[in-house]
Amino acid sequence: MERVVEIEKFAFENEYEKSLRPQNWNDYIGQEKIKKNLQVFIQAARKRGESLDHVLFFGPPGLGKTTLAHIISNEMLANMKITSAPMIEKSGDLAAILTNLQEGDILFIDEIHRLSPAIEEILYPAMEDFRLDIIIGSGPAAQTIKIDLPSFTLIGATTRAGMISSPLRDRFGMHFRLQFYSKDELSKIIKKASTTLEKPCIDEAAFEMARRSRGTPRIALRLLKRIRDYADVNDETTISHSTCCYGLNELGVNDLGFDELDLSYLKLLIDSKGRPLGLSTIAAALSEDEGTIEDVIEPYLLANNYIEKTARGRIVTPKTYELFKLTPPARAENSLFEENQ
Ligand code: ADP
Repeated sequence: MERVVEIEKFAFENEYEKSLRPQNWNDYIGQEKIKKNLQVFIQAARKRGESLDHVLFFGPPGLGKTTLAHIISNEMLANMKITSAPMIEKSGDLAAILTNLQEGDILFIDEIHRLSPAIEEILYPAMEDFRLDIIIGSGPAAQTIKIDLPSFTLIGATTRAGMISSPLRDRFGMHFRLQFYSKDELSKIIKKASTTLEKPCIDEAAFEMARRSRGTPRIALRLLKRIRDYADVNDETTISHSTCCYGLNELGVNDLGFDELDLSYLKLLIDSKGRPLGLSTIAAALSEDEGTIEDVIEPYLLANNYIEKTARGRIVTPKTYELFKLTPPARAENSLFEENQ
């Protein structure tokens, strides 16, 4: 079955997401601290007639990093070019992007932690001095050509705060870490989106979807899309609570927003009876790649205290045992070998 809470890695989106993406601060719900700060910095930059300083967003996928970049570009009345680090393979790719920028443009690079060190080197003078240093030839005959670039704003987004090199991180004037959304905030997002889609949902239905969305707007909107289908088939003009619950159960999204993959993950840790499990062991057991486990599954479970990362691996917390109505093991069983991280 397709994973309903599957999260796309890149900023490219379908028409559905595009139509629901907030374009201004009024439509952007939650992340109040970030919003407030950005509003001040944007206003100041505009007053001075300057480009905004470079901005770095951290946070799990689907929390609104790309959306914030769109709002910044709207507020700065700037054009935005969107790319993703895996697409910038050669230094020439980045040089082409940078030399095509216009004064005041915004360059959004998703998954910025995946830039190669050689590409990062090119980015440093571009970010600091709006200059591109191109090396032509090699050995003693090599020449560096310096090209002036227009002043621009780089907005980087990453799901892995720890994987971004510190020289790159330090060149961003602003760092913002996005938080998971509360159920009330997600409810508002769902209600607003359902009205835009001309299939409004009653408060209880919005709240039901919100509490099963793992604190993530993208998941909330995905669930809404599917539940709207159930409501259409039932000839409902308004999404009812009963249709919503029926649909969510049919989709295999449980009361807490856990889907089959989350449940398999937690079950694996429970079955290890208190023995910490390393990332590679979990990935192999679930036939998933380590990136998906670290970026998609674990952040929500960690933020909500369902799991803990110890020096020897991952374990479930007493809260999880309680959730599954199980008694925690008296003590961790001895492992025969040390788990890797
Ligand atoms: P990220 O770049 O962090 O992966 P996106 O910015 O692409 O996430 O957001 C995913 C979807 O969730 C978007 O389609 C957007 O419409 C919606 N969304 C994200 N944040 C908000 C928000 N604060 N308010 C309303 N909708 C949001």
